[in-house]
This record gives sequence, structure tokens and C-alpha cells, in this order.
Amino acid sequence: MRKYLHINLNDRQTATEEWDGEALVKAGRYLIAKMLVEAGVATADPLGPDNPLIFSAGPFAGTTFSNANRLSVGCKSPLTGGIKEANAGGTFAYAMGRIELAGFTLHGQANEWLVIHFDKEGNLTFEEATPYLGKTNTEAANLLYERYGKKISFALCGPVGEYLGLLAGITISDSDGRPSRLAARGGVGAVMGSKKVKAIVIDVAAMPRLHDRKKTLSAVRTYAKLIQEDEAIQSTYYPIGTMAMADYTNHVGGIPVNNFTLGAQVNDSLETFKMGGTYITELNNSRGGNHSHACMPGCTIQCSNVYVDASGKEITSPVEYETLALLGTNCGLRDPDDLAEMNQYCNELGIDTIETGATIAVLMDAGLAEFGDLAFMRRVFQALQSGSEEGRIWAQGTAHAGKHYGIHRVPVVKKQAISAYDPRVIEVTGISMMTSAQGADHTTGNVPKYASRDKDLPTLMAASLEAQIACAAVDSIGLCIFGRSVTNPNIAFLADSINAALGTALEPTFFHKIGRETLRLEREFNEAAGFTAADDNLPAFFYDEPLAPSNQAARFKGVEVHDIYEHLDEGGTQGVPEEYGRVTSP
Ligand code: SF4
Repeated sequence: MRKYLHINLNDRQTATEEWDGEALVKAGRYLIAKMLVEAGVATADPLGPDNPLIFSAGPFAGTTFSNANRLSVGCKSPLTGGIKEANAGGTFAYAMGRIELAGFTLHGQANEWLVIHFDKEGNLTFEEATPYLGKTNTEAANLLYERYGKKISFALCGPVGEYLGLLAGITISDSDGRPSRLAARGGVGAVMGSKKVKAIVIDVAAMPRLHDRKKTLSAVRTYAKLIQEDEAIQSTYYPIGTMAMADYTNHVGGIPVNNFTLGAQVNDSLETFKMGGTYITELNNSRGGNHSHACMPGCTIQCSNVYVDASGKEITSPVEYETLALLGTNCGLRDPDDLAEMNQYCNELGIDTIETGATIAVLMDAGLAEFGDLAFMRRVFQALQSGSEEGRIWAQGTAHAGKHYGIHRVPVVKKQAISAYDPRVIEVTGISMMTSAQGADHTTGNVPKYASRDKDLPTLMAASLEAQIACAAVDSIGLCIFGRSVTNPNIAFLADSINAALGTALEPTFFHKIGRETLRLEREFNEAAGFTAADDNLPAFFYDEPLAPSNQAARFKGVEVHDIYEHLDEGGTQGVPEEYGRVTSP
């Protein structure tokens, strides 16, 4: 039994529901889609009082089941106008699980800025937020630790979210207490800002009650062992992390460089790719940085990192592949230390590194600066922090910046920046980003190593759909997608583990079923919001400008891929093509 709270910010009244069984399993992205469709908010003002902001933890929340304490945050996106689920690692879902809180919805809007505090018994109080306003995330975090002690977890609205900038995510404290893990995409931080909730703080309590504690803890150990034996994780995610992808995408010509005008920054047969995962890992390890870091308690994949400078002093955490590409190569940066500095500005402001990097590159393409102009990038972050007139324009994101400066090369789908897989080369991920109701988001169905060019569209759509179903499923049960090489082949084990924790009687089929239902609900929401097949198009330049060095242009239009979800019942049967090369076709 766990609680679900409806918190009305207008009158500070809270309604409590008691949930158990499958209600606790169908969480995260599924729950968000279901609640938002049922609430009929598709046409609501996303920054108005009628847009609920939902926080949901999965069935393992509060345990140390590896990579299973992912937090999902959802609402109607003020960036895309469609549905949004943004998920984050860190400690918040873990802390929710420890007070036996399955989730909560913030309704309405507060009159005054406030902090919501949960004590170890789960009792909620509303507190004064004035001391934290306008601070960087590290400053605000330190004040929260002074006020509430060190044994807390928090979700924080940063300074850009305070003035409703659409770059804003919601920052979660990591396993060392850093304000560094973001529910990043779609402007969820602006929605938190619109509700005048500066922070939500949870006192971390003891292990929650479990249906069969012994069996659940045994499953925790078994899953950790499977991860330790998994070649894909042990050769890539654990030692290098997501930045390993950069060496591959630069090699195949699919990494965004200089606002998506090139697909490779260097010819790696002639020179070292210094923005690649191999180089950065060696550099960081040689300086004493940590390249196998767990963002949440219990994660044995440990794909995160703590990046340090030449003297061994921490600059930022974590440097992820998509940050490296959008805020790095896509803005013309070539030095990992410069990238780390920019990464940390995003951490301090609580903003999405993908949307921010894409926006800055658009500004550069519009002639405001040369690619690689570090001084200009620093000026952008100063403007974003101060909320100056130009800072507030830039804080509205890539699509808005492109429109404002009148340039044609604006890399978005459904007004959300395309992440670090150029769809002219990495085509299956491109189809996922085109068709997802979430807007351009690789995490909805990333299949970057699929050899696609000699395949027909139905084959590529089937590969995308397979990945989309599995990703929607793990996003709905609090699992991190980076465990998928273990999770996806072990669905029966997963069902047994959940049954042990919650006393449910799930069959293995639950996994793909929840994935399919989530995708159906998300499409339903977006249709009610007015989205059509035309919204699945890539921007024209992807079709008109072949990308060097492959000289490939995009092949598929929105109208050709839009009916992908008509085939949902055929998906979820083949297993997902592996991201790191073990399987390259279904
Ligand atoms: S795999 Fe990486 S991102 Fe996922 S939970 Fe573990 S450390 Fe965090």
C-alpha cells in the first residue's frame, strides 16, 4: 500500500488516495499519459492553473534494485504543446519510495513562492521559499541542506524556471547531494515555476514495506549480478558511460556539428577525436575524476561521471553524450574542459543541455557569434541567469530563437530540439523522434547502430516501434533505459521481482502491454491538442541539405511514418536492437 496525493496549491488542501497492486506498477510515463488524457487538459494553457504537474515513482522505488529509482515528471508541455514525460535519475523517486509515496500531482497555482516539505512519516508542510529565489542551484541546494539537514532529497525549480523560461527542467539531487540530475525536456521546470513551487524536499526514511522482503532483496542481488555479467554494460556504460556514443556517431557521420551542418567533427582516421568518450574518459581518469558513478542509490551500471580539471578539482557532473554533442560539437567546441564549464552553467540554472545547446547553435548560425565562440556562450548563460530581455528570448528554446532571428536551419520536431542523432544518418532513431508524441526525443526509441540505408521504410518503422514500446515500458516502471540489455531479455524475472515486492500476479506480457498502452494514450492526447501527420515532419533542411561526410539527406516525410502506431499490436515481439552493437537488426 502506498499513498498518492493530490495537492491543491490554491488552497493548500491535500487529498490522499491509497494505492496497491497493479496501480503501483502502472506508473511513470503510463500514469502521466492516462491522467492527462482523463483530465482533458490537451487544450489547456500549459503555464496556467489547469495544467497538472505529476510526479511518479515506479514499483521498486525506495529499494536498491539497480537503476529502478527513476522519477517521471509529466504535464502538458509548454515547449511543444503536446504531452510530456521527462524522467530523471538521482534520489527523489528513491526518497518518495522510502516514505511509501507512489506519487503526487500539483494542481492549481500558489499565490506565493513555496517549498513543499515531506518529513520521514510522509507528513507534508508548506514553507517559505523567499530565501531560495534567484539563486543558482548549488546556492539553493546549500540553503536547503542548512534548513533541512543533509539527509534529504529534493526537486528544484532553477532560476530560469522561476521566470518561465522553456529551457527549464526540474533538478534532482544525485546520490552525493549535487543538484545535477534533470527531468530536462519540454519545459517541465517552467510549469513548476508557473505553480510557484521552488522546491520539494523529502526527508529520506528507512526501507519501505515490501510484500515479500526476502524474495525482493534476493531479486535485487540477482539483477545486480546480471548487470555485472552483461558485456554491453561492462564494456561501455560502466567504464565510459553514454559519451561512448560520440566516438561512434562521429565515425559514422551522425553527430551534430555546427548546428547540424556537419555529421563529424574530425576524421578519426587522421586525428584524435577529443570530444569522444574514449579520449575524455582517459583524460578524466588520469586527473583523478570518477568515470563510474551511480546517480542513484543502488545502481550497479554506474554510467554517470564526475568530471575534474587538470588539478583534480570537480567541474561538473555528469557529462553525458547528448550534452557533449548539442552543447559541445554542435556549438563548435573542441575542448572537453570548455564543454564541462558549459555543462555546469546548465546545472546551475537547471536547464536542458540539449535544448540549450541547440538554441545557442541556432544563435551562432544566425550570425550572433562564430561557432566555438566561448565568450559568446558565457554571455548567453549570464543573460539566461539574469533574465535580461535577450536572455528571456533565448530561454524560450530552439524553435522560438530560430523564428525570432528568421533562420531556416532550426533542428526541432514538434518545437523540441532534435537530440544528438542526425536523422539523415541515424534513421531509426529519427523515425522515433518524428513520430513520438513527446517531440524530438531519442529516449523514446533510440536505435543508433541500426544499419538502415539498405532497408525499406516498413522494416525501419518496425525497428523504431519495437524500441518505442520497450522504452515506454521501462519509463512506466521507473527503470533506467541503460539497463535494457539486461531488462529486455529478462521480462519474466522482472515480473516475478515486481510480484515479490508488491504482491501482484503479473505475467511477463505486462511489459509490452504497458508500453503499447502508453504510446496509444500519448498519441490520443496529442491528437486532442491538434497535432497531425504534418507535425511529424523533420524541418525542410534535413531533406534539402545532404550531410557531409555521408552526403545523405532525410528520406521520410511525416505522412509516411505517422501511422506507425496502427501497428502497435505487431510490436513488442522481437526484442530491441541493441544500442551498443550486439544485434544490429531485428
Ligand atoms: S545507468 Fe546511469 S543514468 Fe541510469 S540510473 Fe544508473 S547511473 Fe543513473
